[in-house]
Amino acid sequence: MYLDYAATTPIAPEAVDAMLPYLTQTGLFANPSSIQHGMGEAAESVVERSRSRIAEPCHGNAKDFVFTSGATEANNLAIKGIALAHRDRGRHIVTTAIEHKSVLDTFKHLESQSFAVTYLRPDSNGRIVPDDLLKSLSDETILVSVMQINNETGVIQPIEQIADALADKNIFFHVDAAQSAGKLPIDLSAIPIDLLSISAHKFYGPKGIGCLFIRNRKRTPLAPLLHGGGQEFGLRPGTLATHQIAGMAEAFGIAHERQAQDLDHAERLRKLLLESLQAAGDFVVNGDPTHCLPNIVNLSFANVDASALLIALRDQVAIASGSACNSGAVEASHVLRAMGIEGDRLYGAVRISFGRYTTETEIVSAGRSIAEAVERLRTLALE
Ligand code: PMP
Repeated sequence: MYLDYAATTPIAPEAVDAMLPYLTQTGLFANPSSIQHGMGEAAESVVERSRSRIAEPCHGNAKDFVFTSGATEANNLAIKGIALAHRDRGRHIVTTAIEHKSVLDTFKHLESQSFAVTYLRPDSNGRIVPDDLLKSLSDETILVSVMQINNETGVIQPIEQIADALADKNIFFHVDAAQSAGKLPIDLSAIPIDLLSISAHKFYGPKGIGCLFIRNRKRTPLAPLLHGGGQEFGLRPGTLATHQIAGMAEAFGIAHERQAQDLDHAERLRKLLLESLQAAGDFVVNGDPTHCLPNIVNLSFANVDASALLIALRDQVAIASGSACNSGAVEASHVLRAMGIEGDRLYGAVRISFGRYTTETEIVSAGRSIAEAVERLRTLALE
């Protein structure tokens, strides 16, 4: 049973159908930059139509969206791109201690390039306090980067408040929306966010494609990471993957059409999961209980080590300890640590995440398997 949707989602069948013609049909596989012939022009028009289909539900301008290989690249492009293009104005940048590694490691890299970084800690529920952020700013600050939804806890960050507070300052605001895009409404015409990263494989699109929204490219100059053929307004050169882009646009459209329905479904599943886990007794849910997306549940079972639980469930239920990008190494979650969680609760934390294609029957059965494994491990510990 697959309950690791926060790591990646299965692709929607409609998105697969939308991709196939650009892989197989004569002419449609042409290079979208080869506009000297009709076939290239047809491929280019698919790319541009897809760009508009992605911009529309976020109320953004299509020309402000640059395709990348996913959110890791979009985060790198946003953060390094701003830092390098604006370093003469200031060398202080601000982020949070609970970001994804693709943001944290980019900031670490910039520290080695003589940027000063502030890592804001969340409250004990995993939320960033906007006042703390405002207090950290100085005349040297050029960039703030905060995620919209945390990938380990599902906690929703006060992005709108932060964006409004920064609006009258000469500071760029970047949002990593990898976990929220398609799942929560975002109105880029109303919220003054400068840069926003999106990844298709988190909303039932293909892996290896995403984009970076850059509000008004002329007023937000970025240093590109790559140099080459000038594609994507010179910000992300390289032949565009028409099929990935078409699949992403289709998946994004569906995610918006089904947003309320998918959220309702996740809420029902969350309730059912927590009910069926009652049999395991003595567990706590980590993270803010109200400001959270229902499809991610982070919990710690008393006296049960997460790695032992994952091994016990290995062939039955696919869940994660901490974030998937860190697993392999038994390393405590930097997110929970930053929330002040320690000891058994820290090392016992697991992340269960589900979505559109998860059924109620699967959740009840997974809940039963997890509760049984927890009970077995507790009995073993007593022997
Ligand atoms: N940011 C967050 C919050 C994520 O959850 C992820 C995926 N784990 C990423 C960035 C990286 O996205 P991608 O896999 O598209 O590089």
